[in-house]
Amino acid sequence: MVEETFKYAATPADAETATAAWADIQTCREVYNHALTQEYRPRPDYNKPSYTELQNNLTGPNGWKQRWPEWQNVYSKCLQMAIRRIKQSESVLESLQDRGYEVGRLKWKAPQEFRSIVYNQSGFDVDHNTDRTDHAIVNFSKVGDFHLTYHRPLPDDGEITQIILKKEKTGDWSVSIVVEYDPEYPEKPPVEGIEPEETVGIDLGITTFIHDSDGRSFESLNEQRDCDRIERRHWNLSRKEHGSNNWEQARQQLAQAYDRLHNRREDYREKLAHEYTMEYDAVFLEDLDVKAMAEDDGTSRNIASMSWRQTIQAFKRHGKKNGCHVIEVPPEGTTKRCSQCGCETDKPLWVREHSCPACNFEVDRDYNSALEIKRLGLEQLGVEAPMQTVGQDMAESAPAETALAGETEDPSDKVSPKRVVEPGSPCLEERPASAVSK
Ligand SMILES: [Zn+2]
Repeated sequence: MVEETFKYAATPADAETATAAWADIQTCREVYNHALTQEYRPRPDYNKPSYTELQNNLTGPNGWKQRWPEWQNVYSKCLQMAIRRIKQSESVLESLQDRGYEVGRLKWKAPQEFRSIVYNQSGFDVDHNTDRTDHAIVNFSKVGDFHLTYHRPLPDDGEITQIILKKEKTGDWSVSIVVEYDPEYPEKPPVEGIEPEETVGIDLGITTFIHDSDGRSFESLNEQRDCDRIERRHWNLSRKEHGSNNWEQARQQLAQAYDRLHNRREDYREKLAHEYTMEYDAVFLEDLDVKAMAEDDGTSRNIASMSWRQTIQAFKRHGKKNGCHVIEVPPEGTTKRCSQCGCETDKPLWVREHSCPACNFEVDRDYNSALEIKRLGLEQLGVEAPMQTVGQDMAESAPAETALAGETEDPSDKVSPKRVVEPGSPCLEERPASAVSK
């Protein structure tokens, strides 16, 4: 059994439904805030109430719903879920803390910070057999109907465990349906049957998004237009009177611009992950721990590492669906080490070529890294491979700069950068013959 969330764009049936939904969300917020600030936080750590205890405060003769009768307008299970959110937020904070982040304590939530209502197990009805194509209706108890853009059907034998109705910062509504089901994923190919040619090493880059051991590279998304748009809308928002209708409109437009960039990035990652896991039996990537990266240099790397993590997650997810092994290998030394002979050469980031002083292997540095990642991956997976031959054709076709090997007495000597830089490194936009031929 797996649990998967299916998210859809949604439209309220009419204006009253939209008003009712937002009013109910805000009631959930009041319950959350009340439970957090009046009941939960004041107590010392060792005596915090359980969420069941908190939920029980809702009902009964002296319960909160008696004191604030308008809270009775909301489907009662939703109020319980609002209280449960305290526990969920708390465990998120704890896991961040465990990973070394500094976290504050849970805070009271303002209206714009609490934008969703959770229907758990009951209080909803999903109708996906309407007459219209790509259309479904969800009825929420005490709120009304929402029409979904039903672009992706729910699994047939799935059981809906939860539905989240949310008003996004853009002002649009969304409905996320959580389904438990038995997926029919293909088996991953047995390791004994895997040919090295059917596997690929992927180097995740900073300026270029991906380099692979078959010599392909994918540029990072061109985000200039999105960034311009965001900047323009920030400026636009700053000129509006805070809280006015115009300000609210500008705020939503800004949120839409951010959303659009976010979606484009996600699309790109998902497409690449899908393509690679469909084409290969095994995909190897570097294990890029966010924390280790954060301790490295500069912010650009930090931001890159965030997107790397998401990319790796996407590969793992698609690997499961498409029957492809997705394996992470230790990243140490993959840029330094020669993929052909293992000799280590220090090279700063601006040195774009790998030129081995020991075996004369000369290629683009990212291509060498991808080959090295593949070598490590095959080793970890347990596939025997004559890696010494991979990429040899390329080495021979590369401009010969053989002086280096002779000059270095010990092959493992570190070579200074200026001796490693050589012109004419092969372009990696095309797949080299060595990688495709068997
Ligand atoms: Zn070498």
